[in-house]
Formats: sequence, C-alpha cells, structure tokens
Amino acid sequence: MAAVPAPVPVDLQALRDRQILRVAWADRTHEFPFRQLRASCECAQCVNEWTGERILDPATIPADIAIESMELVGAYAIRVRWSDGHDSGLFTWERLRELLPAE
Ligand SMILES: [Zn+2]
Repeated sequence: MAAVPAPVPVDLQALRDRQILRVAWADRTHEFPFRQLRASCECAQCVNEWTGERILDPATIPADIAIESMELVGAYAIRVRWSDGHDSGLFTWERLRELLPAE
C-alpha cells in the first residue's frame, strides 16, 4: 500500500522582520520561528546519519538567524539558505508537517 503523500503547502512566506516562516496548507497555517526550523535541520551536517545523534548544538544558532532565500526542490521540499551560511538542508512537506505542534 502506498503511503499517503504529505499535504503540499499552498503558501510559504519568510517574514524576516518577525523571524518566522509562515506555512499555509489547505487545512491550517503555522508560523515556524526561524531558530526552531534551523535547529530542526536533518541534513548530514546537523545529524549523524548513522546514530541519529544531533551534531548541531542549538545554542550555537545565532539569535538573529534568518532565511536568506528558499528554493523549491522538485515538488516535495524546499531548500533554505540560512544567514549562518548553512544551505545543505531540505525541509520536505512531510517534515514540515512533523514539526507542527499538535492541535
Ligand atoms: Zn543541516
């Protein structure tokens, strides 16, 4: 049985003055603080691929971290370029839904 694909956002806006990424889906909208998103990066530089251990220490994320730019990757994710120079992490639609707080 095929997995149900994660819902695709209908809108994504990086609001730099408020340091949030606003993601709108058909069913709900959420504002992700930039620092939380940056700390949730799951790329090989931030998380050990073998052990799952988080390499990135959230305390080292600059308080004024910002999204410099975003680009769509295929139809399933965005790649974020962060103001700290990090740009190797993807946020899939599935991952964004995982990061949503329970309603
Ligand atoms: Zn990363």
